[in-house]
Amino acid sequence: MTVHFPFQNSYSALPDSFFARVAPTPVAAPRLIKLNRPLAVQLGLDPDVLETPEGAEILAGKTVPAGADPIAMAYAGHQFGQFVPQLGDGRAVLLGEVIDKDGIRRDIQLKGSGPTPFSRRGDGRAALGPVLREYIVSEAMFALGIPTTRSLAAVVTGEHVIRETALPGAVLTRVASSHIRVGTFQFFAVRRDTDAIRRLADHVIARHYPELLGAERPYHALLSGVVARQADLVARWLLVGFIHGVMNTDNSSISGETIDYGPCAFMDSYNPAQVFSSIDEMGRYAYANQPRIALWNLTRLAECLLPLFSDDQEKAVAEAQDILGAFSETFSDAYQAGLRKKVGLFTERDGDDALIQDLLDAMAKNQADFTLTFRKLGDAAGDPAADDARSQFMDPGGIDEWARRWRERTALEPQTAAERQATMHAVNPMFIPRNHRVEAVIQAAVNDDDYAPFEELVKVLAKPFENQPDYAAYADPPLPEQRVLQTFCGT
Ligand code: AMP
Ligand code: MG
Repeated sequence: MTVHFPFQNSYSALPDSFFARVAPTPVAAPRLIKLNRPLAVQLGLDPDVLETPEGAEILAGKTVPAGADPIAMAYAGHQFGQFVPQLGDGRAVLLGEVIDKDGIRRDIQLKGSGPTPFSRRGDGRAALGPVLREYIVSEAMFALGIPTTRSLAAVVTGEHVIRETALPGAVLTRVASSHIRVGTFQFFAVRRDTDAIRRLADHVIARHYPELLGAERPYHALLSGVVARQADLVARWLLVGFIHGVMNTDNSSISGETIDYGPCAFMDSYNPAQVFSSIDEMGRYAYANQPRIALWNLTRLAECLLPLFSDDQEKAVAEAQDILGAFSETFSDAYQAGLRKKVGLFTERDGDDALIQDLLDAMAKNQADFTLTFRKLGDAAGDPAADDARSQFMDPGGIDEWARRWRERTALEPQTAAERQATMHAVNPMFIPRNHRVEAVIQAAVNDDDYAPFEELVKVLAKPFENQPDYAAYADPPLPEQRVLQTFCGT
């Protein structure tokens, strides 16, 4: 048996300035710790073969499979608002692209595969903890129905990486509909390379926005398309309590997928100002700031596209502003519609937005668990005797008046209690990757080489909307002493 990847590479056929050709650096003793078998099948790969020692060597970057054309992609980016003209894949290589079972082109990238010309002072490696975190959270996001990069495999390298201490090294195989970022456009914009921007934009349209091929103003339409997808994406994040943590322009995907799971986290109790990332000292990427930051990042993308809009700078700027102006409505439409579903409203009436805001305010005041409050409301929708999520509130009476109004409002709709409950349970997860669970899984793997907790967590999170009574404890918020208040990039 040999491993066959049906590569059909397109990015590496772009001009040389777009990337550096570089092979992964071989590692000592690769050991496969997780293969995402359903994803392998989806990609047209044979999971049994990937699980052989030869498969593990490929997934660790020790062997380059036939047909791969390994490259490190060039990009720039604003990190916490500061522009860095050259970042690039410093610890990742794109092996190539395959067309999946749905006909969608997917990048297969090894993350943690050794130094590249973009590594600067970094070692090009990844530690096991961040690799497991990305695996868990990206696959949880997928199961929640949120556009995201995915995780095909995790391997340990048999080598150590030096961070604050020596840690086991690992490689994640990341799958994305592409790794093109806002920062990829910025890389060429800062070099005033308009031809490259046009090449990149054409590549992106063909790949991610084929419906725009032949549009009258394709580059305007492209900006509009990215604005719409990002607005929708951030709304979905907010609706599940997700905090990306490092929404730099180099971590903002043109395809509209969630990318770069560093210090990301799901919040337990609802707090719009919540920040977990240890490096986000100013709260720039706090939960409720995420829509504003997405628009800021899109504005940076618009700046890169101006030369394609018009030779008349003023005209180009006006057109870009017009397109960016759509963000806030697209976002709030998606967010409000999502919230209405979360509280089980099938129709839209005056006063709904205020009703929902009053719930969120009461949740914030009472440190109510974001996930369980909505889940319990779903239970209550199906059973008038249920506790209306009272148990999630510091002062259980803090939701009583609201629950009365909510029951009055839902009574105006013809749907049965069972229909309302089913609809709510389909959007309000029971299980999210809670920080304390993710940390515990990482500790077991790193300290004890024990992957059973990781396997179990991944399994539970694959069905976030099902009750799974055998795993009920995974739904619980942390006890005070279990709380994880800070997350780290781990790079
Ligand atoms: P990130 O915060 O993961 O988006 O990374 C920001 C930049 O730092 C990217 O250009 C990465 O390639 C680079 N980087 C992160 N970690 C490493 C590492 N261990 N070695 C080399 N480059 C790195
Ligand atoms: Mg990044």
